[in-house]
Amino acid sequence: MAGETIGAVVVAAGRGSRMKSDTEKQFLQLGGRALGFWCLQALEPYVDEIVIVCPAGEEEKTRRELTADGVIRKVTAVVPGGKERSDSVQHGLAALSPACAWVLIQDAARPCLRPETVEKTIREMKACGACVVGVPVVYTVKRTDTAGVVQETVDRSTLWEVQTPQAFSLPLIRRAYAVMNAAPDRRAVTDDASVVELYTDHPVHMVEGFHDNIKVTVPEDLPAAELYLKKQARI
Ligand code: C5P
Repeated sequence: MAGETIGAVVVAAGRGSRMKSDTEKQFLQLGGRALGFWCLQALEPYVDEIVIVCPAGEEEKTRRELTADGVIRKVTAVVPGGKERSDSVQHGLAALSPACAWVLIQDAARPCLRPETVEKTIREMKACGACVVGVPVVYTVKRTDTAGVVQETVDRSTLWEVQTPQAFSLPLIRRAYAVMNAAPDRRAVTDDASVVELYTDHPVHMVEGFHDNIKVTVPEDLPAAELYLKKQARI
C-alpha cells in the first residue's frame, strides 16, 4: 500500500571492543550463523527492505555473512557506518528507498529479538509515530555522587531498560536528526528515541519486550544468547 512501506536499519558498525575477540562481534558464530544474522531473521517477515550499516570496507563480507548467503532476501543496501552509533544510523536512514514511510532501527548485537516483538512494535509505531522496545527495570537502582557514595535509591516503578528496535515515522526521525545536527549544543545520544525526545515535541511510547533481548557486549553474553535462541526454538 502506498505510504506503508516499512524499512529496517540494522547497525553493525561498532568495534565491539568489549568482546575481546579478533573477530568483529557481528561475525561471531552463534547457532551456526553469524551473530548479526539473527535479528535480520526476526525482522524480515515484517518489513519491506533492510539496510545494514557495517564497518567501512566490510560491505561484501557483511552482506554474505549476515544474510547467510542470501537466506535473508530483503537486504537492499549495505553501507559504511560512522564514528558514533548516531552517525551509523544516519548513514542507514539515507540509504532507505524513497518509498519508505516507516523505519525500525535495530542493533545487530541483539540476536534474540523475537518476531512477536517486531510485530508489536510495528503496531505501536503506526498508532503513535515513535516507539521504543524496553523492559521494566527489575534491579534496585541507586544514584551516587562522583566519590561513589550513595545519594538516593531511585524509584524504579516508572523506569525502563531500553532495547531495540526503536521505530518511527521516517520523516519524524529524519527531522529529529537534522535538528540535532544543526544544534549548537549537540548532546551525546546513545539511542534514537533520545533524538526525538530532545529535538522534537513528538511523544515516544514504550513497547514492553522481553528480558532475553540482550545486547551481546561481553564474552559471557554469547552462551546466554545461544541458550535464549534455543529456548525460542530458533536453533
Ligand atoms: O556501542 P553500542 O553497544 O551502543 O552499539 C550498539 C549497536 O550500534 C551495535 O550493533 C553496533 O554495531 C552499532 N554501532 C554502529 N556504529 C558505531 C557504534 C555502534 O553501527 N559507530
